[in-house]
Amino acid sequence: MTVEQMSRLTLAGLDGDPREVAGTTIAQLARGLSGELAWPGSGEYTSATRIWNGMVHRRPALVVRASDAVDVQRTVEFCAEHEVELSVRGGGHHIAGLALSDGGLTLDLSGMRLVSVDLDSGVVEVGPGCTLGDVDRATQQYGLATTLGFVSQTGVAGLTLGGGFGYLTRRFGWTVDELQQVEIVTADGSLRQSSLRESPDLFWGVRGGGGNLGVVTEFALGLHSVGPQVTAGVIAWPAADASSVLDLFRQVTASAPRELTLAAVLRNAPPAPWLPTAAHGTPIVALVVCHSGSLADAEAALAPIRAHRRPLADATGVKTYVEQQSMLDGTQPAGLHHYWKSEFLPALDDDLLHVVVDQLRDNVSAANQIVLFHVAGALNTRPADACAMGNRDAAYACMVQASWSGADPAGPGYHDWVQRAWEAVRPHSTGGNYVNFQTGDEPDDRTVAAYGDTYRRLADLKATYDPGNLFRVNRNVPPRPASVPDLG
Ligand code: FAD
Repeated sequence: MTVEQMSRLTLAGLDGDPREVAGTTIAQLARGLSGELAWPGSGEYTSATRIWNGMVHRRPALVVRASDAVDVQRTVEFCAEHEVELSVRGGGHHIAGLALSDGGLTLDLSGMRLVSVDLDSGVVEVGPGCTLGDVDRATQQYGLATTLGFVSQTGVAGLTLGGGFGYLTRRFGWTVDELQQVEIVTADGSLRQSSLRESPDLFWGVRGGGGNLGVVTEFALGLHSVGPQVTAGVIAWPAADASSVLDLFRQVTASAPRELTLAAVLRNAPPAPWLPTAAHGTPIVALVVCHSGSLADAEAALAPIRAHRRPLADATGVKTYVEQQSMLDGTQPAGLHHYWKSEFLPALDDDLLHVVVDQLRDNVSAANQIVLFHVAGALNTRPADACAMGNRDAAYACMVQASWSGADPAGPGYHDWVQRAWEAVRPHSTGGNYVNFQTGDEPDDRTVAAYGDTYRRLADLKATYDPGNLFRVNRNVPPRPASVPDLG
């Protein structure tokens, strides 16, 4: 069927109620786009609706594959006028499948992948369809980088809008701390520039507001000299050493230079060539390391880690920053069922370290893991209310993670392991968590907790810029006064 042959289409409305839209209206939308309109069975529909988490099954009735900001404006106006549910897809990596509308319209930005490095201003302009790898590859040609995450296929857009952290966070803060300006389409269809100077209130909310205030069509992120070589990789020990390695992790991270980032991973060993075959499938503790300072400083900083007990394998060394940025890609395959829980932690106390070692003993899956990321540093030096992201009291991020094939009958058990492990970790939280790691079953009060003290101001901004809550397929912050949660 062509769009002209549709007499009318039923789409999911903003409140889930069905909305009938005439075929002529849909055809008009299609004609006004530089990009493409797709629907089930047509053109690029299947690839546009394929996302990272295979557990999520949502089928939008329409997909706009946008080419430029005007396509975004037309789509936003269409959804606002016809009260159709709108989702926005960047890299499609949010675990809750927030990229896709179920029955409404998905605005797919994955074709808008322009990256432009401006050496004079030290800024990279990034299209909303870029992956982290797109940006790192472009900026590293000049020995520059901005703060992005650990897996190169992740979308820059969603990562940045929800906060963002990675190997450079200790030096430069959350990814939103790197943000200099955005071009954004708000719910009234206007295309605006927003920065510390232009619409600064909007800019405050964009930096962490998770797409609640509009569709960003371009990001400008600050750059720093990084690499192109770093000292990085992973070292693993048998589970028998888990307590002492976590103790080492705590000691090293307490005084590590900001150039050094460590993450502790507790899991069963994957069948990776860098690990001895005899260790495959056995429980291990590993430290993922990245030192982005001088090679001599890195050697000194890594010496006590490399000398600790007898590692099963040491796969650290000098490599390119781009290589390190994709080292973990293979551990996060697209299409599997994925389920996570996360908390920000103020510190690592003894009880917490016992808890995570106990959970490792209970882990029956090949792929489940607990990860403790060290993030303390630059992010803690900015005011708590510098932007919507908040969480300036975080020193570590803890993630409990399960992945399994949809055909694995043990899958539900892995899901339950995550719940148990997370419940055990939770008492050690700052009280905050990361909106970008929230699963679809997290209740609204988890989003309130994720923002903490910045929630109320974000809800006020939502009332200003999106009073009808058009942008709701996200970790939603409803406009005040509708939301007005009792924050105590
Ligand atoms: P999408 O699923 O496309 O979108 C996520 C949300 O953002 C949706 O609500 C969507 O509507 C909104 N959105 C997307 N683009 C726009 C836009 N242009 N304008 C307005 N709203 C928009 N996070 C980290 O901070 N550090 C990490 O190291 C890290 N590693 C990860 C590794 C993996 C394998 C995965 C799956 C996730 C990881 N994350 C990490 C979490 C990541 O930040 C989120 O999944 C994020 O949502 C990914 O962005 P995306 O564009 O791919 O998401």
